[in-house]
Amino acid sequence: MQIRKLAASLLAALGVVTACNAQADQPRTARGGPASIDIESYYSEAPLSPADRKYADIDGKQMKGWVEDLAAFSRKSRDAGHRVWGRIAGDKEDAETHKWAVDLFRSFGIADVHVQDIALPPQWRATSWDVVARGSGKVLHPESVFPAELTKGTPPQGLDLEAVWVGLGTEADFAGRDVRGKLAVIYSWPTSYPHGHSALWLGAMKRAVDKGAAAILINRAVPGNQKVIHLWADVPTLYIGTEDAAALRDLIAQGPVTVHFALSVTSVPGLHDANVWATLPGTTDEAVYIKAHHDAFFEGALDNGTGVATLMALARHYARIPRSQRRRTLHFIYLAGHHGSADHLWLDDPAAKDPTLVINLEHTALVSFMTFGNKLATTTAIEPLRWTVNGSRKLGEAFADSCSHFGVNLYDQMEGESAPPEPGKTYPDYSRPMQIAPSINLIASPQWVYHSDEDVPANVPARALTPVARGFARLLDKVDTMSRADIRWETTK
Ligand SMILES: [Zn+2]
Repeated sequence: MQIRKLAASLLAALGVVTACNAQADQPRTARGGPASIDIESYYSEAPLSPADRKYADIDGKQMKGWVEDLAAFSRKSRDAGHRVWGRIAGDKEDAETHKWAVDLFRSFGIADVHVQDIALPPQWRATSWDVVARGSGKVLHPESVFPAELTKGTPPQGLDLEAVWVGLGTEADFAGRDVRGKLAVIYSWPTSYPHGHSALWLGAMKRAVDKGAAAILINRAVPGNQKVIHLWADVPTLYIGTEDAAALRDLIAQGPVTVHFALSVTSVPGLHDANVWATLPGTTDEAVYIKAHHDAFFEGALDNGTGVATLMALARHYARIPRSQRRRTLHFIYLAGHHGSADHLWLDDPAAKDPTLVINLEHTALVSFMTFGNKLATTTAIEPLRWTVNGSRKLGEAFADSCSHFGVNLYDQMEGESAPPEPGKTYPDYSRPMQIAPSINLIASPQWVYHSDEDVPANVPARALTPVARGFARLLDKVDTMSRADIRWETTK
């Protein structure tokens, strides 16, 4: 009680009216003050200590501007009429960002900027889709449906299928329900997980396919009605927003529902993309490679506007430091084709030599979301990041120190393992760059907005961008004092 009173008086002092006793759905109006908190101005930035003032040029507000720039390229793609829109590998609007990156690197005073042409493997494209559900005298035409990434299509005329609601898609959910030759409608819990929501780790999509479903409609159950492009199954797969899924579920509850399900996909050969390299030479023949993928679905503010903004902030910072103070060459790579199976191709560039360290900057800053009843709420907190340090204990300690120094929130457990490359082993393309050399990966991919039309700059506060970029700069400075042997896996113990 005391705490609630204290909180209420604090919020009143901030001009915020508490809504504790208000109806959750009522509009939040306030007399004499704002009804919501501006996360950008909520915290005042603590002054940097004298030792940290060298990082003052790394500025989240400037970084946020770069996130906004990239989102604007995506909106051009949407406005040009691409149904799967964003900074799509191989599309003209994504290629326009290459010049943006070249110009930005050059504006930092980096002389060595080069563009590596990438011949993309054939690229998946979904060109049209439609879902119409009919039952109990009603017709639903859910606008939020969107294709799963890399999904198969239907025959051109589409499929007309009986819809079966299978809940979370566990074995218990399927009990007594026959999906053979039908449309399985799956409800998936939006947990944070490296590669997806509950349908993945519960095996729901695979189970639907194994039981003979002809197609899948899946709802990543984020409050609202967002469009999502994410995990696919071995049958034509479309995502559906939560409000639309609820309407379909309620229709299925009333009686049989037939769904017209049409999805056209194609594979486009011969497309090109580019990696943009900016290189700051060091004083030895060793090199550190810092990369951030630039392609994105939708506005791609988190994924991967934040990683690119972090890359640019670091390039700008180190461009201001004389070569004599840099042990190793730093290569900053504005990376192509992450969603197009091409993000390992930087290893084919002549500038890619035996790396001393590889750093992947991906989804580095996001507001922390909470659910509030059936609503998605943003908070003044910052989303913790998943992380992997593949290398020596000393490298891991340098990473942890650098994050904690600037208050970067992390998961308390590392993901994956630290292990030297096994001689003679061939690693898959997607993981090879992080396994052939010591590497660091930092990534947030909570399922609230990831790969959705709600991955917008408003969810990326400038004050979340600053610490992560300063943390990486501190880490790079520490790495600069370490020998190659210090960074690599210990051979004894
Ligand atoms: Zn990404």
